[in-house]
Amino acid sequence: MTVNLNIVPFVSVDRMMKLVLAIGIERFLVELAAYIEEDFRRWELFDKTPRVASHSVDGVIELMPTSDGQLYGFKYVNGHPKNTRDGRQTVTAFGVLADVGNGYPMLLSEMTILTALRTAASSAVAAKYLAPEAARCMAIIGNGAQSEFQAIAFKALLGVDRLRLYDIDPAASTKCMKNLAGMGFDIKLCASAQEAVEGAEIITTVTADKRSATILTDNMVGSGVHINAVGGDCPGKTELHRDILLRSDIFVEYPPQTRIEGESQQLDADHPITELWQVMTGKAAGRTDARQITLFDSVGFAIEDFSALRYVRDQLQRTGLYEELDLLADPDEPRDLFGMLLRAEKATGLAVAGS
Ligand code: NAD
Repeated sequence: MTVNLNIVPFVSVDRMMKLVLAIGIERFLVELAAYIEEDFRRWELFDKTPRVASHSVDGVIELMPTSDGQLYGFKYVNGHPKNTRDGRQTVTAFGVLADVGNGYPMLLSEMTILTALRTAASSAVAAKYLAPEAARCMAIIGNGAQSEFQAIAFKALLGVDRLRLYDIDPAASTKCMKNLAGMGFDIKLCASAQEAVEGAEIITTVTADKRSATILTDNMVGSGVHINAVGGDCPGKTELHRDILLRSDIFVEYPPQTRIEGESQQLDADHPITELWQVMTGKAAGRTDARQITLFDSVGFAIEDFSALRYVRDQLQRTGLYEELDLLADPDEPRDLFGMLLRAEKATGLAVAGS
């Protein structure tokens, strides 16, 4: 990317929306999914650590770093289920991509929209390996901010075109249905989670509650189904009854993080779980038979954000959809940082000593 060395490209919420519109959301999700798959296939060379989480009564603030040795990325993200009552998002985020060689940031981006896109793309990538063949019908339980993105990613990557929606707040389901109108889905609003899962080959749970909830009970999950469990992503915050986990083959992003944060926190520490990257590289089996229940215990891992930031960076020059951020001090002589301040005296008419 040929940009001024001391200017950091900044992708605001406005530019991110324009980027999605310019590319088209289905194509964006398909291309982003390819970046995620590419990075999962070179999983072993990444510097990995469970995210650093700061928990409070109402939510969590997390930092999610990783590096492939060339680039370094991190995301700041929160999770506050009560926020929607005050007109705020449950999840909001921003992230940075930096050059490992000199440590300079190369991109600062909003990541609230990007997180919804990368979460949906990751779910759809997992389902490509795990969902029953030619699955077309998906239940989505929890119809908040993430839900439409999930639906569109499953349509773009797997051909899912029948949706069964349920939310404890019917207004959320109506919103989701309206937002997806005209996008090629046959949508049914359901009165309960039980009704939503009837006939669904894929069940996505994407609810927000700061506690262990039981969105799905064991009797609701028939054989052969793929469960895409997205909402349980913090200690003490789960969506599935433990008995479902015991009947499922469980696939995860990064076990040290998932065992703390995911549905898998309900299991013994040595309960077998399979890493998704191993399925993608042929080191482990994905779905092996039609009656198997597969479960993607999604919590969201730093490498997915890294892939998303990489994808966005690669779109900047072509689209011009960024602003130039004056984030880095650039004195004429690198050690003369104070001299730069003195020169600003002249330009501003103000004095370093104060006026
Ligand atoms: P949101 O607050 O916008 O929507 C959540 C919806 O769940 C709301 O409409 C709410 O009414 C509904 N809900 C709550 N309890 C329910 C229940 N018992 N049954 C049915 N519906 C219920 O939140 P969001 O931004 O859509 O996020 C959803 C969840 O996904 C959050 O828990 C968030 O932390 C998680 N998340 C996970 C990842 C990941 O990578 N795994 C990424 C982003 C968000």
